Amino acid sequence: MNTIAVIGAGTMGNGIAHVFAQNGLKVNLIDIAQDSLDKGIATITKNLDRMLSKERISEDDKQSTLSNINTFTELKSGVAKTDLVVEAATENLDIKLSIFKELDELCDSETILATNTSSISITQIGAVTNRPEKVIGMHFMNPVPIMKLVEIIRGYSTSDEITNTIMELSKKLGKTPTEVNDYPGFVANRILMPMLNEAIETLYNGVAGVNEIDTVMKLGMAHPMGPLQLADFIGLDVCLSILNVMYDGFKNPKYAPCPLLVNMVMAGKLGVKSGEGFYDYSESRKAEKVAPQFN
Ligand code: NAD
Repeated sequence: MNTIAVIGAGTMGNGIAHVFAQNGLKVNLIDIAQDSLDKGIATITKNLDRMLSKERISEDDKQSTLSNINTFTELKSGVAKTDLVVEAATENLDIKLSIFKELDELCDSETILATNTSSISITQIGAVTNRPEKVIGMHFMNPVPIMKLVEIIRGYSTSDEITNTIMELSKKLGKTPTEVNDYPGFVANRILMPMLNEAIETLYNGVAGVNEIDTVMKLGMAHPMGPLQLADFIGLDVCLSILNVMYDGFKNPKYAPCPLLVNMVMAGKLGVKSGEGFYDYSESRKAEKVAPQFN
């Protein structure tokens, strides 16, 4: 593996590009929005500076990581001559299917096509290409440079050879890959999202307030972050979309999103990225709880 294309320079895409580039691979970072590319490179630079100040990397490491990344707004030039594409664009079925159809036409027949999707079926994505055996889920966790896990999801047709290649590559990035099969929510979100949804339901039912729910889970269960704060970090729209995929996929009401979550997403309160969710992230009221109280 020499050159990797990363599609999407948002929260996940810039972290994925950072990790590949820091491990000596050439990265083509692609986004339809120049603004996202600029913000992505600024975030990578800020994160490298933090690592430098903690003496985890040298100035040379920082410079070589940045010089390994090139940016593109056009898919065709960005994916030319790449060994692997990792798609980390917006979590939306139509967007992903259209990107993979295009990738299948633009990329060499040997190029592996991976997606960082949180919940969309790898099998469904693979089926729009002529290479479903080379389509795989490579689900990094946020923040990518810090979190060790990569959930490796085998679609129905993903081959053993491609799975092994991606498992080995993930180890070379210093990560711990874990192989799972392709069912709604995979493993990480199938277990995490019902817990976050239940925390929101607990708030909605007036059992306790935002701080109380998060404090119980932080201090009582030794979770580093409470579930409502974590939902804000993931993005409430992302949480809602994952719950809907599991609700539709299993036809089981236990995955039905809490009406409060639905309302907050409709109101544009998406968590950290929109400046407000269960907490307020504006400079003046940093991390103050603002969600409606029901008790
Ligand atoms: P984000 O909204 O921060 O970034 C998405 C980026 O994709 C944007 O910059 C957007 O301009 C770009 N984009 C949209 N359509 C595009 C296209 N056709 N071509 C190129 N770029 C395009 O989203 P994110 O949180 O980084 O999520 C990206 C993927 O990672 C999603 O599939 C999500 O489910 C998954 N994921 C997210 C998290 C998380 O905590 N946010 C964790 C694991 C996985």
